[in-house]
Amino acid sequence: MSTTQQAAPCILQIVLDTPLNAVFDYRWTCDPANPPQVGQLALVPFARREVVGLIVGITDRTDVPEAKLKDALAVRSQLAPLSPQWLALAGFAADYYQRPLGEVALPGVPKNLRVLTTVALDRALKKLARHDAPHDGTPLAMPRLNPAQQEAADAIGGAQGYAPTLLYGVTGSGKTEVYLQACAQVLAREAEGQILILVPEINLTPQLEGNIRARFPGVMLATLHSSLSEGERMLHWLAAHQGKARIVLGTRLAILASLPQLKLIVIDEEHDPSYKQQEGLRYSARDLAVWRAWQLGIPIVLGSATPSLESWHHAQCGRYRKLELRERAVKNATLPEVKLLDMERDKPKDGLTSQLVAALRQRMERGEQSLLFLNRRGYAPVICCESCGWISDCKRCTSFMVLHKPEHRLRCHHCSLEMRIPRHCPTCGNVDLQPLGRGTQRVEEGLQQLFPDARILRIDADSTRKKGSAQQAFDSVHRGEVDILIGTQMVAKGHDFKKLTLVGILNPDTALFSQDYRASERLFAQLMQVAGRAGRAGRAEGGSASEVLIQTRYPQHPLYGAVVNHDYDHFATALLEEREQAALPPYLFQALLRAEAPELATAIAFLQAARDCVEHGGITINDPIPMSMTRVHNVDRAQLLVESPSRPALQAFLKHWMATLRDMKSRVKWSLEVDPLDI
Ligand code: ADP
Ligand code: ZN
Ligand code: ZN
Repeated sequence: MSTTQQAAPCILQIVLDTPLNAVFDYRWTCDPANPPQVGQLALVPFARREVVGLIVGITDRTDVPEAKLKDALAVRSQLAPLSPQWLALAGFAADYYQRPLGEVALPGVPKNLRVLTTVALDRALKKLARHDAPHDGTPLAMPRLNPAQQEAADAIGGAQGYAPTLLYGVTGSGKTEVYLQACAQVLAREAEGQILILVPEINLTPQLEGNIRARFPGVMLATLHSSLSEGERMLHWLAAHQGKARIVLGTRLAILASLPQLKLIVIDEEHDPSYKQQEGLRYSARDLAVWRAWQLGIPIVLGSATPSLESWHHAQCGRYRKLELRERAVKNATLPEVKLLDMERDKPKDGLTSQLVAALRQRMERGEQSLLFLNRRGYAPVICCESCGWISDCKRCTSFMVLHKPEHRLRCHHCSLEMRIPRHCPTCGNVDLQPLGRGTQRVEEGLQQLFPDARILRIDADSTRKKGSAQQAFDSVHRGEVDILIGTQMVAKGHDFKKLTLVGILNPDTALFSQDYRASERLFAQLMQVAGRAGRAGRAEGGSASEVLIQTRYPQHPLYGAVVNHDYDHFATALLEEREQAALPPYLFQALLRAEAPELATAIAFLQAARDCVEHGGITINDPIPMSMTRVHNVDRAQLLVESPSRPALQAFLKHWMATLRDMKSRVKWSLEVDPLDI
């Protein structure tokens, strides 16, 4: 190309998607007319393959001997480089979660951008121009906000600089409306500004996407979540990267989107554990979002009716500004009345107490919808032989084979082992094997017998396996084609079901006595959230008052008392006090080292060695213990909990410790999780 200017050799410092925590040097001949830039992708030879890496530095010297130095094959110069801010975000995530930068940064870039050839890339760009173009049209009028909503929208929309806000609003208080009007203010003020909106679940994107498109028809919206095809993902990612998409809506993975003009971040249902990635880079999208907002000096809003104790704590300390919406937005819509049904007094038949059945019948007669919530899918969690005591445990895991009656199969939910339902007991030959306990399929079956005319719909991971089927199911609920909806936590979150006046909660007691110190926080949030699906549209004339009925054996338990009173404040404050006294998060910082091996002893021995290989003054390292579900898919798992009241001290220790562990080159498979949720 440029024959007049001198082409000069240079060294590209490149990170690759490998577990090796290293930057690799490659030789490149710089074309002065089109020099390589930090943040660009480059194709390089690596371990006898050609892979795409990210340029993180450009220099003229290297320690690699001349003979060993390889040439980079191509620099993807048609793609604008990732910004220094984005590189800093990836760098922070890598550092904080103790992973190699390449393993964080490269999976954040769509696969197609990494593997496609130049020609294909050019074509995809062009395609983008046609894709998802904003259309002209009249935006749907914004509803008039109530004073509390207006105050919140103005505070968020008008904030300058880093301004973290906890939007604490009861279920149905119109938080979505606040986000949208705050977005409108930011879009109007920042000519090129971009907004990132995260929701915890993919199933929540369509409703919000519809709302956003209706309100902002002239604005390009990109969505980023795990059910996009690779082609779609690339188009949407590029739209964000090129600054064309002004609103990006996505699930946790969208936190690593490249957004050069980011001006506001919205985290809806911020308490939701789905924001935490549970494998690979185990990041918290919420926490990264707060860091990203801080780094860019932009506002961020975290919304929830049941904030995480972490965020509640930040609000109490004044690190986050707290805005409250105490009432439901729709006129007439009050919070549902929550009643506890004592299962000792009103013994359930087919899992349902007579009071719950009567309430369901009343809704049927009035043409209103009901929701039954049971967080256990399948027909029954286990089958057993009553004559010899055999139970259907999984051969490969410390768990049971769940009965899936429609498919006539037993299935392990942890390792996916499947088998036909045995005709007789494998131990004693008894033909009378009984299901024990109750999952959503079994409740559905009971309901069909009880209400033969009812339109009953079950929504859980089993009923929504096919792509798009969850959306169809939710749509039919919204269209009023369902009388009784039964589902797992999939139905509990965020949905705005307008015709629902009754929520029945089956069997929540088990979580009351869990070992996990987070169990009560989670149960409380889950109950408040599912209860919050009832009565959102306000009471119709002649219609039922909205009600939540909780079947329990422990109606005196204080957690249920707090749910009855819709009293998140006191409950959260009391839990925080307990955490402080017991020195637990958020007053303590934790990391968990996990190891897995065919034999438990091997995993424990590795953790013991890991414990002993470093000085750890000021850091508490507990004893290695088997994980509560020890064996999964024939592998035994153990863990080692590391704690410190100081986050920087823990971080410094982890960095040093990880380097030492990597050098040990153990055959045992291990991983580290920072800020673990399940311990
Ligand atoms: P949240 O996210 O707080 O649970 P939503 O944002 O889903 O609540 O709002 C609940 C319902 O209230 C929705 O149907 C929404 O359209 C309606 N809504 C919100 N704000 C207003 C308002 N200012 N006036 C009338 N209806 C509203
Ligand atoms: Zn038997
Ligand atoms: Zn199994």
